[in-house]
Amino acid sequence: MAHVIVLGAGLGGTIMAYEVREQLSRDHKVSVISKGSHYSFVPSNPWVAVGWRERDAIEVDLTEIMARRGIELHPQGARRVHPDDKRIELNDGTFVDYDYLVIATGPDLAFDEIEGLGPDGHTQSVCLADHAVQTKEAFDRLKANPGPVIIGAVQGASCFGPAYEFAFILDKALRDAKIRDKVPMTFVTPEPYIGHLGLDGVGDTKGLLESEMREHHIKWITNAKVDKVESGRMHVSEIAEDGSVRKQHELPFEFSMMLPAFRGVEAVRDIEGLTNPRGFVIVDEHQQNPKYPEIFSVGVCVAIPPIGPTPVPVGVPKTGFMIESMVTATAHNIGKLVRGEKADAQGTWNAVCLADFGDSGIAFVAKPQMPPRNVNWSSSGKWVHLAKVGFEKYFLHKIRSGKSEPAYEKLAMQALGIDKLKEVRFDD
Ligand code: FAD
Repeated sequence: MAHVIVLGAGLGGTIMAYEVREQLSRDHKVSVISKGSHYSFVPSNPWVAVGWRERDAIEVDLTEIMARRGIELHPQGARRVHPDDKRIELNDGTFVDYDYLVIATGPDLAFDEIEGLGPDGHTQSVCLADHAVQTKEAFDRLKANPGPVIIGAVQGASCFGPAYEFAFILDKALRDAKIRDKVPMTFVTPEPYIGHLGLDGVGDTKGLLESEMREHHIKWITNAKVDKVESGRMHVSEIAEDGSVRKQHELPFEFSMMLPAFRGVEAVRDIEGLTNPRGFVIVDEHQQNPKYPEIFSVGVCVAIPPIGPTPVPVGVPKTGFMIESMVTATAHNIGKLVRGEKADAQGTWNAVCLADFGDSGIAFVAKPQMPPRNVNWSSSGKWVHLAKVGFEKYFLHKIRSGKSEPAYEKLAMQALGIDKLKEVRFDD
């Protein structure tokens, strides 16, 4: 009997548990270690932050669902992974042993790397549901006392879609409140150009996003490094190609939401051969760690090198569909290993993204994620907003049903030519 543990019950970990359960007979055990028993749909946090969604609507209690699927849930959270002993120490001091481990712990949010950044400092966040609820309170204060707004991401960030999304969503919420004219907005980003997204652009994301920013009266500063944040004032250096400071900005603000850089969580940081210096899990094309082949990893916690040098560091985003492709490959590989076969499934890592602007949005497909690409497509329109709402409902339904991929999703994705698994060629 094999025991498979999935560490983390977010977007990747939850469906990971469902898919690996489907790969294994009931003789084998599947467990999930989570922080609390609730799943939270992170992509809807920007809507919670302006009051378009209640927190309850995007959270699901996993207790009964996991029990129904025959998956053991440990909601205590993990303190430390001990890969040499194949065991995990939980936050209550107990240990669980595994034969296979999938690390799906998402990001640790590195607010502490910049003075004054984050919910404990002077800027807001939409990374966690708690943060989004706190941001809603700050948004209400802004409505009562309108003033300048700064939205964006800091140096080393990798997740740019939600920063753009939040800028446009806030713009719409301020227009709805009829106070947009009292709120000058600036977008601050380490990207070398608007629409780079950590991917050197996809299709014409540069043209589309610049045009949307102009139409929505949002100014921008690119190649930006945030030096520190004080109450109501952000200190930003604009960096030139040669690394020198081209211009220094002192930007006043009444409200600011800045996405932080990500790093690996404490439970896996500083483990030689398992994680890189930033704490991200090292995996090969089969999502498998080379030093500890019984350990796999999926999602934001996976180490992916940046796309190329930029004046200010930017990371590569890990979007939902890409994460799902990692999950499917991992489930197949663990199933194969348990059956004594070779772990040869590979995720496509295609980036498919819907960025909602409240009443419109942009969508892109990067296939493969790194250029040059076979598909390099972006588009905008009201349909993106509707598609994003549909995606939220569909994904939450998937989590509640305890099943990862009903046949119709497979059909829709195949119709778009977007598959989760690379074809395994036996002559390779
Ligand atoms: P998470 O969903 O963050 O899950 C990680 C889980 O691990 C968490 O539940 C955490 O509590 C748990 N965990 C961490 N440490 C431990 C521990 N020690 N013990 C137990 N559990 C632990 N992508 C898209 O494709 N479309 C979008 O619209 C989109 N919007 C986004 C909006 C925001 C605000 C953000 C931040 C990201 C967005 N993304 C989007 C990117 C990505 O899809 C999400 O970040 C996604 O949630 C990542 O999934 P994950 O499983 O890697 O991490």
